Amino acid sequence: MAYRWPADTDFALLELDVLDRDCPVCGRMMYICDHRYRHFHTLDGPVELVCKLNHCPDPACPGHAQTKSPELESAIALPNWAIGWDVFCWIGHRRCSRHWSITQIQGELGDAYGIKLSADAIAKYIQRYQVMLAARQQDPESLRRQYQSVNTIVLTIDGLQPEKGHETLFVVRELTQKRVWFAEPLLSATNEEVQRLIAQAKAWAASLGQAVVLWVSDKQDAFVQGIAAEFPGVPHRYCDNHFLRDVAKPVLEADSHAKVQMRRKVRGLRKIEQAVLKHERPAVGPNPVPVDPAATFTMSTASVHPQATGADTACAVVLAYCTAVRGILNDDQGGPLEPPGLRMASALQDVRDSIQRNLDTKKGGLQKRNWAAWPGASTGA
Ligand SMILES: [Zn+2]
Repeated sequence: MAYRWPADTDFALLELDVLDRDCPVCGRMMYICDHRYRHFHTLDGPVELVCKLNHCPDPACPGHAQTKSPELESAIALPNWAIGWDVFCWIGHRRCSRHWSITQIQGELGDAYGIKLSADAIAKYIQRYQVMLAARQQDPESLRRQYQSVNTIVLTIDGLQPEKGHETLFVVRELTQKRVWFAEPLLSATNEEVQRLIAQAKAWAASLGQAVVLWVSDKQDAFVQGIAAEFPGVPHRYCDNHFLRDVAKPVLEADSHAKVQMRRKVRGLRKIEQAVLKHERPAVGPNPVPVDPAATFTMSTASVHPQATGADTACAVVLAYCTAVRGILNDDQGGPLEPPGLRMASALQDVRDSIQRNLDTKKGGLQKRNWAAWPGASTGA
């Protein structure tokens, strides 16, 4: 669907003429016979582009029936685009490099540049950007330039599944230049199919005139056999990450079990919160304390009014602890070197220490509460 411009759009005018005005058939000087008007967004604002179309003045020349467009037109915006290349690249970069969502891109284009595009249109431009990127990625000329100063090549291969249930995407990467060479989805990853990809990598390396000195993979059978067949004598090493993950498997299983145990033991947060909120409701002073059980620690302490009673403050503290503990129990981050269960245990211990510090302070008769010296729960939250 054509882009609809508001009636009061203020376009910057841009005129383009044909650079080479010799008729491609007879060589006579061509005349302007028509104009093409285009409108599109650039990062500098909306543009009206006037393209002067030329044709051969000789009615007998085949060049008369054809028009020639300015050569530079496609360097500003491709046909039927509502945006120039600059906006196109801006969108593609935000999507592919920064991983922005389409909604985010749409919002920022509107806020920062006043460019209003539908989500459909943005999706369409992203798709074209990806096609161009993929074509560029495999451009032999740009590859040769990148590998001019390189002496050796280190290749890796791995299968990944961007969407569960889809075919596995096999990716061949080169490590010295950190570049994806190619990727191909294989419906059935038979040894023959995998070996075909490895042979393709061999052809690429040969075309660059470079020696492959090492292969790295998770050493699944198809890789081991394919690499041995195509690259006899070239070392094939275990990928550190896969190796570590495999070695750490029993540890992570035990860790996951410990996590379940801790979750089972630390319970009843909701009950405590309900009790606190119930206790609070009747104590309505001139400034009732708004306590949101879902609020984060900082929010709930910040909401304590300076004139709040001691009981109100205590309630807020209890709720803040509950929030912190809930955050700890829901945290699933970590990996083989930092198992999530160990993180959870250490964070829960921080909370215990913090509560103990509060109890000790109370025993000592210290009335003044020092919020700054309250780091315990925040480490877990
Ligand atoms: Zn002509």
